[in-house]
Amino acid sequence: MVPRVVFGQGSFSQLGDILLPKRRNSNAPFIFLVDDYFENKELAMSMPLMFNDRLIFVSAEEEPKTEQVDALVHEIRESFSELPSGIVGIGGGTLLDLAKAVAILLNNKGQAKDYQGWDLVSSPSIYHVGIPTISGTGAEVSRTTVLLGPEKKLGINSDHTTYDQVLLDPNLTKTVPKEQWFYTGMDCFIHCVESLNGTYLNAFSQSYGEKALELCKDVFLGDISESESRDKLMMASWHGGMSIAYSQVGVAHAMSYGLSYLLGIKHGIGNCLVFQHLEEFYPDGVDLFKQMLTKHHIKLPQGVCADLTQNDFDTLINVSLGMEALWENALGKDWKQIMTPERLQTIYQKI
Ligand code: NAD
Ligand code: ZN
Repeated sequence: MVPRVVFGQGSFSQLGDILLPKRRNSNAPFIFLVDDYFENKELAMSMPLMFNDRLIFVSAEEEPKTEQVDALVHEIRESFSELPSGIVGIGGGTLLDLAKAVAILLNNKGQAKDYQGWDLVSSPSIYHVGIPTISGTGAEVSRTTVLLGPEKKLGINSDHTTYDQVLLDPNLTKTVPKEQWFYTGMDCFIHCVESLNGTYLNAFSQSYGEKALELCKDVFLGDISESESRDKLMMASWHGGMSIAYSQVGVAHAMSYGLSYLLGIKHGIGNCLVFQHLEEFYPDGVDLFKQMLTKHHIKLPQGVCADLTQNDFDTLINVSLGMEALWENALGKDWKQIMTPERLQTIYQKI
């Protein structure tokens, strides 16, 4: 679990004070990895830089890659005579995951792809702080960093992945465009539905999942102010992430991973594209999802899989069925009898 968290509108102003006791000396900088949306914006100007700290803007256009992590680690090692005092990741799930991975690799030998999997990280990561600027993924609280590697899209899942400190300032999400707000918010909603309807559910994940679901309903179907909505979605993201931490996601995520691997479709929208067709698995969740789409006038792209070859479908199916834990959580131990490659292809063909 994340041991330290600060929450509140305007709490970003506390960042300098939070980092100060963690500064080892003036040669050990803080590296700020920041979504390049913020380049030349007010947030970038108010970064609490000291000594030889470095601000690196990174594009969130594409999901993070293992080679991108390796390149950043190389650049940081080459630029400074000693290890940084810490890494601060500022942005959506893309930047939050990238910063976690860089913090791990700065203190572990080899390449990022070597650590994709479960509990392969041996040395602790360097001190790292996560500051979400868009709510939904739960990446701020999870023990994984999802990376696209040369062979697979898979997380570095470890106790060293989790942030040492998170700062939740809902004001940072004010500028998120409407559609992106919806897609990333739906990632959270789908985390809840998949966790609460999974066979891995237990009292721990249920307690967080139910709270997150209630918050999502307030945000996407309720009648609340924008300010309250930003606060609640940030906490929904947190609770949704805590819920899947002790259970698992399900069908939409397993299928969305395939779309992302083959077509580069981003996580939030990929989940939405799949989830709309999953009434047979999550009838209540899909019904709520359709109400949310209508209320917010969101039109999902159509015909995404229309021109795919059989070879493409085989890739989608292989990547998706490779996510065994997700399928087992969703459908139980006999999931292979239930979700055959043929059945999976018919769902992909609807997208
Ligand atoms: P994102 O980080 O990919 O960002 C989406 C877009 O929003 C980008 O264009 C970005 O520049 C922009 N943006 C971010 N903050 C903004 C702001 N305040 N104002 C204006 N624009 C802003 O989006 P995401 O949906 O948060 O993250 C998706 C990523 O999260 C994927 O790579 C996925 O694999 C990962 N993920 C990780 C976990 C985990 O537990 N580690 C869980 C779910 C998803
Ligand atoms: Zn997700």
